[in-house]
Amino acid sequence: MLPPRYARGEVFREKFSVDPVGNEHNSSKNTTSHIPARIPRLMMHENSEGKLSQGKIAALSCPLPLMDHATVQLAHGGGGRLMQQLIEGLFLPIFSRTEGAGHRAAVLHDSAVLNLSGCRLAFTTDSFVVQPLFFPGGDIGKLAVFGTVNDLAMAGAKPIALSASFILEEGFELDRLRQIVESMQKAAEEAEVVIVTGDTKVVDRGKGDGLFVTTAGIGLVPTGVNIRPDRVRPEDCVIVSGDLGRHGIAIMSVREGLSFECPLESDCAPLAGLVATLLEAGIPVHCMRDLTRGGLAAALNEIARHAQVGMELEEESIPVSAAVRGACELLGLDPLYVANEGRLVAFIPPEAASRAVECLRQHPLGKQAAIIGRCTAEQPGLVVARGPWGTDRIIDLLSGEQMPRIC
Ligand code: MG
Repeated sequence: MLPPRYARGEVFREKFSVDPVGNEHNSSKNTTSHIPARIPRLMMHENSEGKLSQGKIAALSCPLPLMDHATVQLAHGGGGRLMQQLIEGLFLPIFSRTEGAGHRAAVLHDSAVLNLSGCRLAFTTDSFVVQPLFFPGGDIGKLAVFGTVNDLAMAGAKPIALSASFILEEGFELDRLRQIVESMQKAAEEAEVVIVTGDTKVVDRGKGDGLFVTTAGIGLVPTGVNIRPDRVRPEDCVIVSGDLGRHGIAIMSVREGLSFECPLESDCAPLAGLVATLLEAGIPVHCMRDLTRGGLAAALNEIARHAQVGMELEEESIPVSAAVRGACELLGLDPLYVANEGRLVAFIPPEAASRAVECLRQHPLGKQAAIIGRCTAEQPGLVVARGPWGTDRIIDLLSGEQMPRIC
């Protein structure tokens, strides 16, 4: 059963949360006032096969600015539409002024790939602000190492070395810091990378929330490997490497004081070995993405938009454990939007898809790998999931994140 919050009506509610003169509505009194009049007109665009027509997509796009903020919002870091606007509206236009940087930035992948004297070097960075610092299945240190290793792996690179920078708050216990640093070293050994450089800054008491960590990483992309969002083609199969939502729900269980019959731990894991298994088997991987902030939904929306393909998912084939599904229903969350830290989605041509799934299932981190849908030439940029009763729902990009500070 889908959480009521993400029933089809909610899509309309989000899309029409701006009134005809462009004022943002954030109270339920306003958002609901003009929905009933609009829904019947939108429903008329659905064709006899129950598919969403181009007319309907156009009808869902509001011509007025949905999010126009003069200050940074929490949602700007949520992996959703607001973060996309910040990157594409502020960072990219400025940083791409250097010749050559524009093309690399336009790829918008988990890692940049630089050609250096015949070597293809993957390069990435990520900051970690998760709260709480320790959670079932991991801590901020483990997350900081695996997060960057995974972004390198998503470009098909073999991770080599990381940097680690710490912003510490005055008063933070050194014992806790030691525990986090030990955890980083253990994670680095597991991921077969070395932490070779770093930095430490301390901010005044009350101005740092304990500890923030930033890691950057480099890795080598093997010859012939070319994994990028713009290589995704219609007919490509969409494959996930395992069940979804564990990381987000593990964090929420601590924040909300929930306990479950089966203990639920973060899926936090290094994915480079899993990716190497695919590449060594000669699977022609078009694109991959780790399913962090914004979960599967955000990753698919970003890729559908950049590759200009549509995506059709079979909701019943998406693996979600009973514990995560139950917790999501309790918390009013949709597992497709919940963060993971050890899961990836891969786009594979149909002729190699079954072999890719077999290959993933041979690895301990890919036991529940599954084909969950396919890309289409129709409705570019739109991700639709077909539910168990044959009904379609749009898997849209949220404006922010269901759960802030998840990584
Ligand atoms: Mg990533």
